[in-house]
Amino acid sequence: MKKTIFTGVVLCLMAGSAMHAQQLRPEVFDLLNLDYPGLEQVKAYHNEGNDSLAAVSLLDYYKSRTGICTPEIQKIDRVKINKEQQKWADDALNHTFFAHQGYQPSFNYGQDIDWRYWPVKDNELRWQLHRHKWFAPMGYAYRVSGDEKYAKEWVYQYMDWIKKNPLVKIDKGEYEITADSQLKADAENSRFAWRPLEVSHRLQDQCIQFQLFISSKYFTPEFLTEFLVNYHKHAVHIMGNWSKQGNHLLFEAQRMLYAGSFFPEFKEADSWRQSGIDILNREIKVQVYDDGGQYELDPHYHLASIDIFVKALQIADLNGFRDEFPQSYIDTVEKMIVFYANISFPDYTNPLFSDAKLTTKRVMLRNYQKWSRIFPDNQFIKYLATEGKEGTLPEYLSKGFLTSGFFVFRNGWGDDALQMVVKAGPKGEWHCQPDNGTFEMWYNGKTLFQDSGSYVYAGDAEVMEWRNWFRATAHHNTLAFGNKDLETTQSKTLLWQPEGDVQILVTENPSYRKLTHRRSVFFVDGKYFVIVDEAFGDAKGWVNLHYQMPRGDVPNSREDMTFYTNFEDGSNFMFQCFGPEGMSMKKEKGWISTSYMKKVQRMDVSFNVKKDVDAVRYITVIYPKETAGKEPKMSAKFIDKGFHDNALKLQVKVGKDKKRVLEYTLD
Ligand code: MG
Repeated sequence: MKKTIFTGVVLCLMAGSAMHAQQLRPEVFDLLNLDYPGLEQVKAYHNEGNDSLAAVSLLDYYKSRTGICTPEIQKIDRVKINKEQQKWADDALNHTFFAHQGYQPSFNYGQDIDWRYWPVKDNELRWQLHRHKWFAPMGYAYRVSGDEKYAKEWVYQYMDWIKKNPLVKIDKGEYEITADSQLKADAENSRFAWRPLEVSHRLQDQCIQFQLFISSKYFTPEFLTEFLVNYHKHAVHIMGNWSKQGNHLLFEAQRMLYAGSFFPEFKEADSWRQSGIDILNREIKVQVYDDGGQYELDPHYHLASIDIFVKALQIADLNGFRDEFPQSYIDTVEKMIVFYANISFPDYTNPLFSDAKLTTKRVMLRNYQKWSRIFPDNQFIKYLATEGKEGTLPEYLSKGFLTSGFFVFRNGWGDDALQMVVKAGPKGEWHCQPDNGTFEMWYNGKTLFQDSGSYVYAGDAEVMEWRNWFRATAHHNTLAFGNKDLETTQSKTLLWQPEGDVQILVTENPSYRKLTHRRSVFFVDGKYFVIVDEAFGDAKGWVNLHYQMPRGDVPNSREDMTFYTNFEDGSNFMFQCFGPEGMSMKKEKGWISTSYMKKVQRMDVSFNVKKDVDAVRYITVIYPKETAGKEPKMSAKFIDKGFHDNALKLQVKVGKDKKRVLEYTLD
């Protein structure tokens, strides 16, 4: 076969007026195991000193390579593109880059791309630019349309990024004394462009890009060598800079598994793959509690962790090494899915606890379908994957996850169910918020008492002010002291009784140095909730019991400390707070954020009591109902005299229901 041979430096005229040198990088032949089956010709040319022909031969090898793929692209001739991806691809042709969902419309990075442009000083915006989220969509656009402009521009941007984002590391001392401002700027930029999480993201996505673009005429033998050298540098960077813990480490491990599996021709590929497997096998035991909860106690990162563990299984399945994951790993992933399914609401969305965002049913259905293929015997997952057409629901209703501290009360699984999810766990990792005792409630088609969410992660002072607002203890459905954040977040479960007419959770958090918060939740007749909050200890000052109200028509009365809703959708509630004499009610501006950088206003209400005695005690009755308006009439009072360490007794009457005595004694 006649081959076109380029020698030396090949200059390609690229988009705009810029030129980017694509050089044959001979060092690639040192990085590859030339004894790998299929590389015989590459080795022969290289040994003859003809690296140009070796590169041509290497590209031929990759173009005809079979049997290795990633879960994203299993049949290259069947790839599709959706409208959103098409837009990202087209926008990218003009250097308008989809860097972050929270910053839409996307920013333009200039004809001569400025990879350091940082229009809003939110770290995420600058970090995530370096994930190149529009690259794979450009590949899909190229495959679907056959239009080479996408491939040409991708190669251009890929090389432009390499040129303008050198990996420069200077340590703190050197940083202060270096006079080289360019070096300083490059080092500063490296903190964003080469953060291991971003590097790992590229490591994964470049496997996808590689499959999509390799057929292009712009994917030249020289570019292949540039690509592989750059890819290798990425993998080596991760191997030397693993994140210490948390979801970052999981992401990195799963993506190293990709790297080692997708490019087995690299000399270190086996160790990359093995490192990924070892870390995942180790971390799944560290990061996932025995009840299936992930230790950041954040439904969103819980979901992301499932995705990581599942992707690792998928790539193992596709490339024939699933047996490197023990059965305990597979069982844990299944437990995580069951955990998530339990704390989710009937519309497939999750509570907005910690830094969680709202999922959509469309995305979750796809997830359950994927998971059901991996766990075909799990009838619960099958039920959710098929919206109840197949499979079965669990035999239980209410369910507690005692190690993670997630408790679910429910009277059914359907849209019309009443469900409450309480979060009261151990100290959580980074994405966890100081919110022990908080809850969300579902009733008849809608989530009520929704968590405020997170809005934004980290950045300059203005960004941090917003982050801290959403994290604040006082902006949850729980109790604060002096409206300060919890000093300790380490709840203990004193009682969990998930069955019977009156179901009970008693959870206690040593919230502040001199103030402990005990919350008792009674789920009465599957119809309503009674929450008793007891704040005790030596602390003197204001105790604030907070609830977050839904948007819309929510009338209230200071006279009797009631709130109720006037909604037409059949999902309403009335609640009344019974506190000690002198209790005041305060209404303040609240917010809810269901996705990054999106927020809408609502009402935060608190019931405030000046604590100058041993304990302050509240009873809140929450009565969900179909009809709007201020009903039913309710009353509640303590029967016991003051706080008791091991018991509680109160009496509640709601509407025409009979008077109920609610009580427990702890062992
Ligand atoms: Mg929150």
